[in-house]
Amino acid sequence: MKFEPVIGLEVHAQLKTKTKIFCSCSTEFGKPPNANTCPVCTGMPGMLPVLNKKAVSFAIKAALATNCTINKESRFDRKNYFYPDLPKGYQISQYALPIAEYGWLDIEDKKGNSIKIGITRIHMEEDAGKLIHDPARQRSMVDLNRTGVPLIEIVSEPDIRTALQAGAYLRKLHAILKYIDVCDGNMEQGSFRCDANISLRPAGQKEFGTRAELKNLNSFKNVEKAISYEIERQTYVLEEGNKVIQETRLWDPVKNRTISMRGKEEAHDYRYFPDPDLVPLIVDDEWISSVNKTMPELPHEKVSRFMKEYKLSRDDAWVLTSSIELADFFEKTAAPLKDKKQAANWIMTTLLGMLNAKGISISQSPVLAESFSRLLSLIESGTINTNAAKTVFEEMVSSLKSPETIVKARGLEQLSDQSELEAMVDKIIKKNPDEVTAYRNGKTKLFSFFMGQIMKKTRGKADPGIVTKLLNSKL
Ligand code: ADP
Ligand code: MG
Ligand code: ZN
Repeated sequence: MKFEPVIGLEVHAQLKTKTKIFCSCSTEFGKPPNANTCPVCTGMPGMLPVLNKKAVSFAIKAALATNCTINKESRFDRKNYFYPDLPKGYQISQYALPIAEYGWLDIEDKKGNSIKIGITRIHMEEDAGKLIHDPARQRSMVDLNRTGVPLIEIVSEPDIRTALQAGAYLRKLHAILKYIDVCDGNMEQGSFRCDANISLRPAGQKEFGTRAELKNLNSFKNVEKAISYEIERQTYVLEEGNKVIQETRLWDPVKNRTISMRGKEEAHDYRYFPDPDLVPLIVDDEWISSVNKTMPELPHEKVSRFMKEYKLSRDDAWVLTSSIELADFFEKTAAPLKDKKQAANWIMTTLLGMLNAKGISISQSPVLAESFSRLLSLIESGTINTNAAKTVFEEMVSSLKSPETIVKARGLEQLSDQSELEAMVDKIIKKNPDEVTAYRNGKTKLFSFFMGQIMKKTRGKADPGIVTKLLNSKL
């Protein structure tokens, strides 16, 4: 029997506020344990939470950017459970009445078809603390710096059908939250985390099957790998005539498999109820429209503008807008240049190739947009040819020197003196009579042989345009 995967994703995104959601403690990452705490976030008796307005504005912005309807009235509930990283004994979270619902995102599949993924809801909540386990000394330590940091949880509809679609949805959502500047998107620090729910159903069946929930997915690649694994595992279970059980599973990135963490029987009953310390959250039209006024250009709008303004293909515009940093890098690079397409190509091949090889992101690029642009303007002005530019780029990456300094120090200026090149071409033609005859008899492939001779002679510095013209006329 053929099975169809059904996937729904829950994303927790940390909002980029300076202070926590219900107190004025700093949200700064990497401080000494428990430095960012106060009676409110450590859950002392008698403490009273006060909602952070900026956090609400950020949640509204995320909701607008994901096509959600904002609820004019929403509510904070208490989600009760005991754990040492949760000093109050409950987490404050929107449950019955979230701030926003009924949104959607468009993603693109491999063929460029767009697929609409529904967003069930976005709700606000506080983060829990962190436990650091020290098995050697048989103790666990509690760090409450993260306790009370504002989060939004974005819950998708079970509209996703493949691991790749899940990856595309997550990348898109990640890009949007960074574009609108409400989340720093740092997955290693946990600012953007995802749980994936997966079930299978016989192809053609309407009802969903039993799902497993995957946790501990801290990169896009891991999400895709874990979902693929889980689809295979559940297919095997069903094909053997067994039943998938509802459970939470952990992704093991070392062994590349999921393992059972807890079953349904061990699931919590959270005994949600409205937090009596917090009034209902009322969001009026004025608040929504003031947030809307701060909305920057979103990825799909940037795609259209890049196509129009820089005459880029849809595919290229898509790649270059995939993150706000890459889009900014491109625009800064292209600004002073005549040839925008050349800028796009160099970024997509040479720059991204280097970043990939080093396994770093664009924000960690050793070459900044400004110097990358100057490198390309050296090509545009005819100072160096593209071959030399590649050499210069490599040295820019390793030495952090400016392109002009490198060109000078290594004498890479392009040779474009007409008479000098003409003399060289004449010499090469004279020295290789057999090749010349063969060429004239139709072996036109030999053109690159002559070009190669000139480049060898000039150590790659000859202006290929001029040499081409000269060779064409002389041959
Ligand atoms: P919980 O809070 O217990 O995780 P939710 O109802 O909030 O449950 O659902 C969480 C996620 O699971 C949503 O993204 C939803 O789309 C997805 N989901 C629900 N049912 C299924 C299913 N049968 N198969 C796959 N995903 C599902
Ligand atoms: Mg869940
Ligand atoms: Zn505090």
